[in-house]
Amino acid sequence: MTTAKLDATGAAAVEAARAALIDEAPAEDVGEHLGAQAEGDRVVTHLFECTRRGYRGWRWSVTVTRIPRAKQVTVDEVVLIPGEDAIIAPAWVPYRERVQPGDLSAGDLLPVEEDDPRLVPTYSFGDDPLSSDEKTQIRHVAQELYFGRVRTLSVEGRDLAAERWYDGPGGPSSPLAQAAPAMCTSCGFLIQLSGPLAELFGVCANGSANDDGRVVSFDHGCGAHSEATLPKRARPQALPPHVWDTVDDLVEL
Ligand code: SF4
Repeated sequence: MTTAKLDATGAAAVEAARAALIDEAPAEDVGEHLGAQAEGDRVVTHLFECTRRGYRGWRWSVTVTRIPRAKQVTVDEVVLIPGEDAIIAPAWVPYRERVQPGDLSAGDLLPVEEDDPRLVPTYSFGDDPLSSDEKTQIRHVAQELYFGRVRTLSVEGRDLAAERWYDGPGGPSSPLAQAAPAMCTSCGFLIQLSGPLAELFGVCANGSANDDGRVVSFDHGCGAHSEATLPKRARPQALPPHVWDTVDDLVEL
């Protein structure tokens, strides 16, 4: 990449750049000239401090250019840009990407998109144009055949769920699983699923375990495993009788 040479005529046009800037912005918001930089052949950007309240670190940028052999510059653009220490808003993230599990409150609605790739139609109306009555009839038939759901999980939706569960707290890499005496696959509290996800996951049904009611991978585990035992030295010691039966003891004497 070649660096453009700073054009001397453009670099000297500080007052022309300032005049163009004051045409666009209030004069009291324009501060010191901060420097000039080459943008290309005979294209120079002048930077001015922005003194407007709330815009600390922002700079006015005025780009000027000229045709070959001309002594006058013309103004390309005037913009306000953030400097390195400028206060700027964080990058916009659409709300759908910001919503996390646990964010929904009672009464909140979070509809999915019509073309959400995680879902596929359970049944189709085919390609023939149908009236709404005919579509209603098809829906009734589908319900009678137990296709009660209009859409079901797609392969992509299933794979995403499997990845999320496996990499999450119910997977093998959670601290709980790493310190477990045995895996869920050998635990009596594991409820089996059906379908493709059943090859890797089940549901924990141990009311004393952290994962009770949650999906866990077979290679997850925890200290509440049904076959977990305490090491001998950690087992509770048998205590002596807490009452001294003086009556019986005295009779025997
Ligand atoms: S109690 Fe622990 S080991 Fe057993 S299924 Fe639940 S999470 Fe897995």
